[in-house]
Amino acid sequence: MNDSSKTSMSTAATLTCPACGQPCLSIWRKLRLGPARSVACPSCGSRLSVPWLPFAALMLFAQPACAILALLAVGPLLRIVGPVSMMTAAIGFLLLPMFFLVLLSWIYLRWTPLIVKRP
Ligand SMILES: [Zn+2]
Repeated sequence: MNDSSKTSMSTAATLTCPACGQPCLSIWRKLRLGPARSVACPSCGSRLSVPWLPFAALMLFAQPACAILALLAVGPLLRIVGPVSMMTAAIGFLLLPMFFLVLLSWIYLRWTPLIVKRP
C-alpha cells in the first residue's frame, strides 16, 4: 500500500475538466460515460459529458468499418495460413473483436472531447 505512487500512476490516465482544468475523470470512467450520461467534476462540480455528434459518428462509422476491415483481413490471412484449423479460426474470431474494441476505445478517448453539460 503506497498512496503516493498510486496517485502518480493514476494521473497519467486522468482527464482534465474543461471547466476548471483539474483532473476529474479517469479514462476508464470516460469509457463508461456516454452522451446520455454525465458525471460531476470533483473540483468544481460541473456536469461533464461527451457530445452526441462525435459519439454517434464514431458508432455509425465504426461498426461498418470494423466489419469491412475484418472481411479484408480474413482473406489474406486464410491465404497465408492455408486451410485453417478450428483452433486458429476460434482464436481469430476471439482476437478480432478484442482488437477492434481496443481500437475503438482509443479513438473514442482520443477524439471525443469532454464537455460541460448545461443544466
Ligand atoms: Zn472542474
